[in-house]
Amino acid sequence: MKLPQFRFLTAILVGCLSPVGAKADGVLPLFDTHVHYSQPAWQFFKTGEIFDLLKKAGVVKALVSSTPDDGTLKLYNLRKDVIVPSLRPYREGSDSSNWFAQQATLDYLTARLKKGIYKAVGEFHLFEPRSALTPQVKELVQLAVKYDIYLQIHSDALPIAVLFEQHPKLKIIWAHAGMSEPAETVEKMLDRYKNLWTGVSFRAGDIAPGGTLDKAWRDVILKHSDRFVYGTDTYVTGRWGDYLTLVEEHRNWINQLPREVAEKVAFRNAVRLFGIKAGFPD
Ligand SMILES: [Zn+2]
Repeated sequence: MKLPQFRFLTAILVGCLSPVGAKADGVLPLFDTHVHYSQPAWQFFKTGEIFDLLKKAGVVKALVSSTPDDGTLKLYNLRKDVIVPSLRPYREGSDSSNWFAQQATLDYLTARLKKGIYKAVGEFHLFEPRSALTPQVKELVQLAVKYDIYLQIHSDALPIAVLFEQHPKLKIIWAHAGMSEPAETVEKMLDRYKNLWTGVSFRAGDIAPGGTLDKAWRDVILKHSDRFVYGTDTYVTGRWGDYLTLVEEHRNWINQLPREVAEKVAFRNAVRLFGIKAGFPD
């Protein structure tokens, strides 16, 4: 065998053995935009185990919000190169039902945002459009614009529309693509609101029923390929136990997209949104 051919084969072999994400057509690195490390999980999954799981899953960065926020800060203080903090309005689980009408919650958010470390406020829940119209939520919208950060919201389409009415510069990451909204509604929302991005956590069963990418979802992902971000959602402790399975479930359908689009969903869109590129391939 002549030397140049040998070199060529060696290059191929070395390429195949490269670490996750190092190769353009290898296993997709992930930016998980929907992670929680809330109090009940702390005793079962120590911080070191969380980082081990992220690494095993090929997750290079994670947008983390927790109840209370201490969970996020525990992780962030250990690995600022991995954790992107998002500020959750909830200090305890019951806050999810009434946070939007509590002045104490707004004061808490206002004070914490002054730290300057948070890239988003959320994930929070808005179950009714009128919840998006309280004085506290209106003030939160102003805060998000002032700090130029995202709101990560679990709601159906209507509260999102109500929020965009309040400020044209507001930026929203729509958790779970509306959770139960069909692909057609997600498409209309993305058509209408240029500052709307949407997460895919909890939607693998709709996006790829039985494991095969659904045509309607494929069409909207291709049409709005810059607006979908990857996410798992570890909202209860058991989801950490299932984390690797959740990641595989998403990888399965993401890999059915053209490679360029798959990379956008897996990490490139989130990299652009948060302006954080370190650790990802060019
Ligand atoms: Zn969540």
